[in-house]
Amino acid sequence: MKRTAILGGGESGVGTAILAQKQGMDVWLSDMGQIRPKYQEMLNRHQISWEQGGHSEDKILAADVVVKSPGIPDKAPIIQKLIAQGTPILSELEFAKPYSKGKTICITGSNGKTTTTSLIYHIMKQSGADVGLAGNIGRSYALQVAQEDHEWYVLEISSFQLDNMFSFRADIAVLMNITPDHLDRYDFKMQNYTDSKMRILQNQTPKDSLVYWKEDLLIPEELEKRVQGYAPQPTPSSRPARPGSPTLCPFGDDDFERLGLKFSQMGQHNKRNAMAAFLATKLAGVDEQLIRRCLITFPGVEHRLERVEEVDDVLYINDSKATNVDACHVALQAMDRPTVLIVGGLDKGNDYSTIAPVIKEKCRAIVLLGADNTVPRTALEGIGLPMADTHSMSDCVSACRRMAHKCDIVLLSPCCASFDLFKNMEDRGEQFKTLVRQMRSNE
Ligand code: ADP
Repeated sequence: MKRTAILGGGESGVGTAILAQKQGMDVWLSDMGQIRPKYQEMLNRHQISWEQGGHSEDKILAADVVVKSPGIPDKAPIIQKLIAQGTPILSELEFAKPYSKGKTICITGSNGKTTTTSLIYHIMKQSGADVGLAGNIGRSYALQVAQEDHEWYVLEISSFQLDNMFSFRADIAVLMNITPDHLDRYDFKMQNYTDSKMRILQNQTPKDSLVYWKEDLLIPEELEKRVQGYAPQPTPSSRPARPGSPTLCPFGDDDFERLGLKFSQMGQHNKRNAMAAFLATKLAGVDEQLIRRCLITFPGVEHRLERVEEVDDVLYINDSKATNVDACHVALQAMDRPTVLIVGGLDKGNDYSTIAPVIKEKCRAIVLLGADNTVPRTALEGIGLPMADTHSMSDCVSACRRMAHKCDIVLLSPCCASFDLFKNMEDRGEQFKTLVRQMRSNE
């Protein structure tokens, strides 16, 4: 019996364990930290053995195959030992795919994955397709494959998952953009991170499609290296397939207007997300008129340019998910009123100089929010805007209220991770929304 060790007892690890057991494997799960009660209960119900609070190395090293959570870096000592002895280490998606009959629409990129994935799922669902939503979002892919396999899956795929995918093939791949992110996991080498993202097209054949944003600074030159006979395409259209390459479906920034599309979400970047979803769902066979209607009815995703409230004629927008400089950049570009920008948190090596011009153009003031604001303060004080230094969400929201004028926008789009002051980016966004709504009810 194949011995399968699973590292990480969260949504993806537990789903993988249940699928592996269903396939008759000898399964065991190990988590360095604490496994949440919900997942302990699921493992126990399926009589899958597990441990928490540390790894029993001998058992892991004796496994025939290891499936690891995307959160565990390759540098972790146990992973290094597995690599040294040649044990296959797979991601959940790689492991589960052979057991599914479903086709996949796989979305990756540095920014816009969750929005585009949710939008594609919304369109597929409205079309009546039998579709599951998984990857970095929603319920585990492996669990859905084990319990209710679907005809289609819409999968949000991070670079960490791509790193442990080898024979996985996407029927429809969507590559949104490649800008610096998570470089700490890639030896601070942009090419390593780029190579990881480009794995989305590995194993694709002419029957499969790659939808991508052709105006990205890196994607066209990376395709040139990898796709035989590559030449940039002027319009979104499925080009004739060439041996060994996917059918390429590029889109550019003019295509949204040219096609007369309308989308419920604001900003140029969201037009790109809408174009990617439009092309991917057309390739999946959805009726074009239905797609157009779904773009208008899409409710948006929490913590992504989410309109919270107007208080004293100031609009508060929660973009807590903007955890890198590029995400904040596109958010600011979408602002059509003077903006008080909230930035700061746990810095991932940000280069703020790239957004200084757009801050200067769009902002009235900057409110720093972090345990230590030295890095953004030093980087941004040269712009010459009024600046407030805060270390809690309540002080931050009070400062914004003081600094904003009537008809302004207050935008939480922090460029940074949240773990210095908050549990996660959701907690940061929730605290912001709660305080804004309190102000509204006290008005
Ligand atoms: P991801 O899942 O890749 O992190 P999200 O859809 O959650 O992407 O959006 C995260 C942030 O990135 C948003 O707050 C928004 O400001 C920005 N963003 C969304 N779509 C794009 C895009 N196509 N290009 C650049 N930035 C984007």
